[in-house]
Amino acid sequence: HGRTDSTQSHSALLSEIRTPIKTEPFSDLYSLIPGKELGRGKFAVVKKCVEKRTGREYAAKFLRKRRKGQDCRLEIIHEIAVLELATASPRVISLHQVYETASEMILVLEYAAGGEIFNQCVAERDEAFTEGDVKRLMRQILEGVVFLHDNSVVHLDLKPQNILLTRESPLGDIKIVDFGLSRMVSGGQELREIMGTPEYVAPEILNYEPISTATDMWSIGVLAYVMLTGTSPFLGDDKQETFLNISQINISYTEEELVGLGASPINFMKSLLLKDPQARASAKECLNHPWLQLQPQEGEGLEKPLPIPVPPLSLEKGEEEESLETEE
Ligand code: ADP
Ligand code: MG
Repeated sequence: HGRTDSTQSHSALLSEIRTPIKTEPFSDLYSLIPGKELGRGKFAVVKKCVEKRTGREYAAKFLRKRRKGQDCRLEIIHEIAVLELATASPRVISLHQVYETASEMILVLEYAAGGEIFNQCVAERDEAFTEGDVKRLMRQILEGVVFLHDNSVVHLDLKPQNILLTRESPLGDIKIVDFGLSRMVSGGQELREIMGTPEYVAPEILNYEPISTATDMWSIGVLAYVMLTGTSPFLGDDKQETFLNISQINISYTEEELVGLGASPINFMKSLLLKDPQARASAKECLNHPWLQLQPQEGEGLEKPLPIPVPPLSLEKGEEEESLETEE
């Protein structure tokens, strides 16, 4: 039995960075744009700023070094190291500079002006993605994930809030952000239990089973579902129910949300939302999936808006739902 979690997770962290850590006051070199908070998580605030010398816009991620009484500097160094490792991929946000104060580290990141894809996932249909958009963006997400997995990095928090756009309209390209939960999966050591966001977490995380690149592929399956339908496939009324839905793979591919979608995107999601991590398609395999091949399939398909989700009119539940527990 292993109460060696901390050493295990430390071996999964990178500790060497080449970006110089600057200690001069951040505000000497950058002006914060007033009222422009780009986002906020448990331990970070992200603000838009302008580099005084160049006039260029950036996103500054302010990370607290102490969290719940713990020194988290090493984890932040790891986040920086992963961003450095990923500079070769245009699908991962690039890191410009790093500052450190007594209480925080500031990552100066490339600014993704289009914001989170989350906004368009849950938007009204006229502003939401078309299936053609989803296909193009999903290809880009997978290109980023192939790069990460080829380099033994698992992201472990892939969700619409961590996938940004270079511009909103016309729709730009995606940038993967937030490597705060990411880990290295090379070397024999097993890595278990790093909790991501309930709705996107894979069954093996809930079961305290080994984490691998396939753990990200589960999240890609959930992401595809959310991008195509605007609804979250496993979301329950509370965390418990969400976790139960995931561990039972309580998903029905005949939901009204999916009506109007072709067999191909459904088959794509089914190849990822599998309990057995080894059975899931890899990121490379996903790029070769027929759904993501660029030839227009029915001639008109690409610009057609996605089906409008029908609000549930009655409470009658599909009695068949239970039977889909374990697909393939
Ligand atoms: P956390 O670890 O707190 O989730 P993230 O790195 O995910 O931190 O950043 C939080 C939010 O800030 C993101 O969901 C996004 O909305 C916004 N954000 C982060 N980085 C950028 C960026 N480079 N450009 C624009 N917005 C960003
Ligand atoms: Mg985040």
